[in-house]
Amino acid sequence: MRSAASGGADLTTIKALKALPYSTQWIEESDIEAAVAALRSEWLTSGPALERFERMLADYCGAKEAVAVSSGTAALHLTCLALDLGPKKRLLTSTLTFVASANCALYCGAAASFADVDPSTGNMTAETLSRALAPDGADIVVPVHFGGRPADVERLASVAGGAFIVEDACHAMGAEYLSNGNWHRIGSCRHSVAAVFSFHPVKPMTTGEGGAILTNDSVLARRLKALRSHGIVRDPAGQHEFGGWYYEMRELGYNYRMTDIQAALGVAQLSRLNEGTKRRRDLAAMYVDLLGDCETISLPPEELHVRSAWHLFPVRVQHACVDRRHVYDALRERGIQAQVHYVPVHLHPYYRERFGFSPGQFPTAEEFYREEISLPLFATMTADDVRRVVDALREILVET
Ligand SMILES: *Cc1c(COP(=O)(O)O)cnc(C)c1O
Repeated sequence: MRSAASGGADLTTIKALKALPYSTQWIEESDIEAAVAALRSEWLTSGPALERFERMLADYCGAKEAVAVSSGTAALHLTCLALDLGPKKRLLTSTLTFVASANCALYCGAAASFADVDPSTGNMTAETLSRALAPDGADIVVPVHFGGRPADVERLASVAGGAFIVEDACHAMGAEYLSNGNWHRIGSCRHSVAAVFSFHPVKPMTTGEGGAILTNDSVLARRLKALRSHGIVRDPAGQHEFGGWYYEMRELGYNYRMTDIQAALGVAQLSRLNEGTKRRRDLAAMYVDLLGDCETISLPPEELHVRSAWHLFPVRVQHACVDRRHVYDALRERGIQAQVHYVPVHLHPYYRERFGFSPGQFPTAEEFYREEISLPLFATMTADDVRRVVDALREILVET
């Protein structure tokens, strides 16, 4: 699989042929040392590193509480449980998302329903949400910060009709938005009950697998902490009565705990998060600069009131001019592994067959899906890598 431009097998060519994924982790020696230190310590699972990680996450985002768990999916599931989502209730999310944003409703025996998105940002808007809420309403609304770009949660909350807002912020650790002249971080939960993050390796920071719920509601946080460990509570009154060993199960929970090894890695990663975010912002700006005059693709819009975490660099190839499949395949032949985000959730066979969703229900998201392709973007990428992607893309677009 050699690109047309590649010559002999010299070092530059070999380097040039190294596959570029759409995203990947950034691991430094300090991460490795942190994980090793945890392995050498007394605690392997939830211990002092977990507490430290949770404190750091809450402080970083500007929220009162953080509850770290085993994945972003677990974080969504537990949040729905803790907000009493269940049979006869309904969760509404953007259809342009990873399936986990909706599956959490099904885990609880509730219904999942969807909203369409804005064609340029890929985010749910007040208008698409209002339309989706009629006539049945919803108990929980889950806006997704698509690609790391903040959705307007304040406006969404104003039309949500009393539903709980839970932000799916799995792309958005490090993202910020402007409100009344001040910048706030996603995760501060100023207009939501909770925000959920993922620390999967492709996301802005990683703990291997992992996730967290940020919230300003201490009662909710306490319930989440019980639910992540079987619904078990160790309460001083009970221990006083029966003995220090005493614990009791108060509701049906799960084992969704994060280990101390993961949390130690999380502390090391979070202390470098701003640097990684800055690198991705610089690389994204470079893409915008180099692709700005390209007429067959639409770039992510510039919005002055948000700063994306740039988990993804999503572009749209205009299908009237060029087929996305062709662009994807031709990039892959050149060692560039772009990705498509996302097959709209309502179009997956499971959702169609079980719940009767069908094509045409959310036309803007479907059109977005037809044209979207996420170009490689991650903290360890170089300016040369960006130029390589841009050159390849231009070559492919000229040929077609
Ligand atoms: C990654 C992701 C999740 C799930 O996170 P995991 O940690 O992989 O379980 C949920 N929602 C969105 C939008 C995601 O990108």
